[in-house]
Amino acid sequence: MGLTGLEIYKHLPKTNCKDCGSPTCLAFAMALASGKASLDACPHVTDEAKEALDSASAPPIKLVKVGTGDHVVELGEETEIFRHDKRFFHPTGVAVLISDTEDVAAKAEAFEGLEFHRVGMDFVTDMVAVQCDSGDAAKFKEAVETVAGKTEKAMVLITEDPAAMEAALEVVADRKPLVCAATADNFEKMTELAKGKECPLVVRGKDINETAELVGKVEGLGHKDLVLDSGARETSKVLADLTQFRRLAVKKKFRPFGYPAIAFTTKEDPREEVVQAGVYMSKYADVVVLKACEKQQLLPLLSWRLNLYTDPQKPIAVEAKLYDVGEPTDDSPVYLTTNFSLTYFIVEGEVESSRIPSRILSVDTGGVSVLTAYADNKFSAETITEAIKGCGLEDKVKHRKVVIPGHVAVLKGALEEESGWEVIVGPREASGITKFAKDNFA
Ligand code: SF4
Repeated sequence: MGLTGLEIYKHLPKTNCKDCGSPTCLAFAMALASGKASLDACPHVTDEAKEALDSASAPPIKLVKVGTGDHVVELGEETEIFRHDKRFFHPTGVAVLISDTEDVAAKAEAFEGLEFHRVGMDFVTDMVAVQCDSGDAAKFKEAVETVAGKTEKAMVLITEDPAAMEAALEVVADRKPLVCAATADNFEKMTELAKGKECPLVVRGKDINETAELVGKVEGLGHKDLVLDSGARETSKVLADLTQFRRLAVKKKFRPFGYPAIAFTTKEDPREEVVQAGVYMSKYADVVVLKACEKQQLLPLLSWRLNLYTDPQKPIAVEAKLYDVGEPTDDSPVYLTTNFSLTYFIVEGEVESSRIPSRILSVDTGGVSVLTAYADNKFSAETITEAIKGCGLEDKVKHRKVVIPGHVAVLKGALEEESGWEVIVGPREASGITKFAKDNFA
């Protein structure tokens, strides 16, 4: 169990200098005890104190890495039960399952095509899991080799048979796959294999008590890159176990559960399977293994992951700059909006639908929407004028007209005065842009 805030406080300099961002050393100690601050934030702490505080400053859930190079998937290091308390850090790894009894090459190729571009972001399915259903070590090895030849993404190797795992690791150990799984029956050999190849290891009990016990045994053998699996497969039980892992690790600093967790879907219907995976992703799986391999099945899951793992205190923003829609000329209309990504992409979609080549100037409002930015003086005559001057618009169009959102029609006079540009008041809602464009610029 970690140190309390008062115990930590005894080791701090007690100067209340605020260099760590906390108002006092005591406030910093409390934040450290609850896992909401890192000891590195205090530049004045002594080496002796650092050593003493090491366990308190360690994240309640260890960081575990699967894969290599650009395809490393980082798991764990979470500090919260509820996302709104701070944020979740490392998005759940989504692993598509390939059985060694199916057409391995075909499914691996389909997996590689699972990439999406949406609202200016790339969504990827980042892990592939190969499972030994054949019971044949040679066949499993061949399947693993085939998948490894088709994708560089992080791998999960699933078999409780140490001989099959050893065979598979002969071909992909350098890819640092997640070895799944060590059980009460095989943990000595599985730990030896995973530790010897420096690969992370799933520890699978029959329930959470046996999982805690097994973690202790595997740690005793010297391996500490672990991932938890309570062994449950029924949705409500998995959810309860994942919640217990997270609560006991974060709230009680119960070290055997201070590792990321993995969950496996069981539903056969693809839609139900994606919902089940979404439940596990929400609370609190760090890896979800599922069979679904179709874009329409995975896109909702990846969109849900994006929502869960964005920082709730930080709006999602696009780069504040001048964007071309189509191939605009020096006569093309110019629309103004903010750099809140949702607003920008809605405006872009509507401008695109008008089929009139145009430009959109996204003004830096810190990623907030038009009305919020206006209320906070971030979408004002001054900031817009600065954006117009700074983006080179004057050299790209021969007219001097910009369209502002109808919601901020009140800016027209001040903006015309400040910028010297004619201001056209556009529709209040983005949905009106297509008609507005056709009426005014076609
Ligand atoms: S930086 Fe260190 S010494 Fe200064 S207030 Fe924070 S904890 Fe105290």
